[in-house]
Amino acid sequence: MSDVPQDRVARVDLQTNRPHSARVYDYIMGGKDNFAPDRETAAQVLADWPGLRTSMLANRACMHRMAHHLTGLGIRQFIDIGTGIPSSPNLHEVVQETVPDARVVYVDNDLIVLMHARALLTGTPEGRIAYIQADMRTPRALLDDSTLHQVIDFSQPVALTVIAMLQFVEDAQGVIEALLEPLPSGSYLAITIPTGELAPESERLAREYTARGIPMYLRGRSEVERLFSGLELLAPGIVPMPHWHPTPDETPLPETATNMYAAVARKP
Ligand code: SAH
Repeated sequence: MSDVPQDRVARVDLQTNRPHSARVYDYIMGGKDNFAPDRETAAQVLADWPGLRTSMLANRACMHRMAHHLTGLGIRQFIDIGTGIPSSPNLHEVVQETVPDARVVYVDNDLIVLMHARALLTGTPEGRIAYIQADMRTPRALLDDSTLHQVIDFSQPVALTVIAMLQFVEDAQGVIEALLEPLPSGSYLAITIPTGELAPESERLAREYTARGIPMYLRGRSEVERLFSGLELLAPGIVPMPHWHPTPDETPLPETATNMYAAVARKP
C-alpha cells in the first residue's frame, strides 16, 4: 500500500499539457523526464539552433568549474536557484568531492524537479543537502523558508549559484538584490545568463520559447553588469561562458558557440 494519501496524489497537476523549461532542457540533454509538448518545443528550438545542446553542455561544465573555484575560495555552503532535473554530477557531488561537509540547498519551482529531489539528497554523511520547492520571483518567501535556515548558517559566507535560469525571470535585478541581501560579507554570486550578443541564433530561440508559453528574457552586457553592482567581480570578469576559467588542457569553444555570459563576484 502506498503511504502517500491518494487525495494528495490526485491534486498534483504537473501541467504536462504545456511545455516547461526544466523538461525541455531535460529532453535536449538526453533525459527521460519530459512529455510531448516539451519534446515538440525542444524539436523546434533545436531546428532553430542545433548548437543549443553544445551550449547547454558547456553550461554544465562551467557550473562545475565555478563550484570547484568557490570551494577553493573556502566556500562551504551553497544555495542553488533553478536546479533543474538532476543530471549527474550535480552541484553537491562536485563540491562534496573536495569538501565532504559542504551544505547545499537546491531550489526549483517545477514539480517534476521536486519529484526527483530524492536523487539530489544523496550527499556525504558529513554534509547536508536540502531541496526547497519555491519560486524565485518571490524571493522573500524563499528566504523565509525554515528548511533554508536549518541548513544554511547565515553568519558564514554562502555561494548563491544562479545557473542558466535568469532568462526565465523578468526582474532579474530585483530578485538577485533580494537574495543577496541576507548573505554576509565574503559571500559569492555565481551566474551564467543567456544573451543575444553571442550566438546569433539566440534571439530566435528566445522568441520560440516565449511563443510556446515560456517567456525568455535575454540580457545585454550592461544589464549583466548591473546584476553585479556593489559586488567585486573576480577575474576574468563577465565573459562568454567558455572563457570563464577554461580547463587548461581544453580549447574553449568559440564565443558564438554558446549564448551565455558567466561571472562570479564577491560580496564585500
Ligand atoms: N541550473 C541547472 C538547470 C537550468 S534549467 C543547469 O544549469 O543545468 C532552468 C531551471 O530553472 C529549471 O529547472 C526551471 O524549473 C527553473 N526555474 C525556472 N523559473 C523558475 C522560478 N521562477 N523559480 C525557481 N526555479 C525556476
